[in-house]
Amino acid sequence: MSSLTDAQAWVRTAKWIVALTGAGISTDSGIPDFRGPQGVWTRNPAAEKASTLQHYLADPAVRRAAWQRRLHTSVFDAEPNAGHRAIFDLDQRGQLLAVVTQNIDGLHQKAGHDPRDVIEVHGSALWARCWNCNDRRPMAELLDRVRAGEEDPPCVVCGGIVKSDTILFGQDLVPVVIQAAMMAADNADVVIAAGSTLSVFPAANVVPQAKAAGARVIIVNGEPTKMDGLADAVLLGPLSELLPALCESRLDQ
Ligand code: NAD
Repeated sequence: MSSLTDAQAWVRTAKWIVALTGAGISTDSGIPDFRGPQGVWTRNPAAEKASTLQHYLADPAVRRAAWQRRLHTSVFDAEPNAGHRAIFDLDQRGQLLAVVTQNIDGLHQKAGHDPRDVIEVHGSALWARCWNCNDRRPMAELLDRVRAGEEDPPCVVCGGIVKSDTILFGQDLVPVVIQAAMMAADNADVVIAAGSTLSVFPAANVVPQAKAAGARVIIVNGEPTKMDGLADAVLLGPLSELLPALCESRLDQ
């Protein structure tokens, strides 16, 4: 297995890099992951069940609880950390083809990326969408209504059920979004998979897809992943230290 030094050289000389990021890149920004040792689902397996589309649509009590949780989530106030900034550094050097992210927190965009370069395969918690008519508007508008007393605010256009514009269990991914991710994988010469257990599909397919197309695969995570066997280098440790080291980012930025 190759070392950090080898991986740094691949990144330094790559023409096109794709970063595939998971919840682990945002834990140092104060947003807990799901399946890591301190993850929301690791500590409370019942929480996973509450994230299914069927329950959300069928049960007003599940929706009321979800709106209350959204009022108190750390996602809206979080700031990007050194890991996000290291990925943005690659963009500034003209080497980044795309960020494919499983995250819904908008922190890559907050770090500076053009939103068109961030492929959010699981959607965004910063937006709300009507399940019936697809009306999409900023989550902040809905949260203001919840604060004003609406427990389960209906769509202002059609009265339908509104949810966070994220992909729940049982909900299909948006085909053009996943196609864009796979196209990026096909055209990368290096893929950096950071902060993911690489167990959520089809997003994790970016790794084998890029590998089959000839890319080098660098996995950076705090614990082993399902795809370490495919990797050219596996870097184990804290992402907000390893990503700046891998990308040879300036630390004063
Ligand atoms: P995951 O929760 O399955 O795995 C995260 C991985 O990151 C774990 O292996 C964990 O050990 C590692 N990790 C956590 N903090 C780390 C750190 N500081 N340094 C190094 N490694 C660290 O995440 P996933 O594979 O992305 O899947 C969870 C799904 O849940 C995602 O698809 C996403 O949609 C959603 N989610 C998103 C957010 C977010 O937007 N920030 C947060 C939680 C969950």
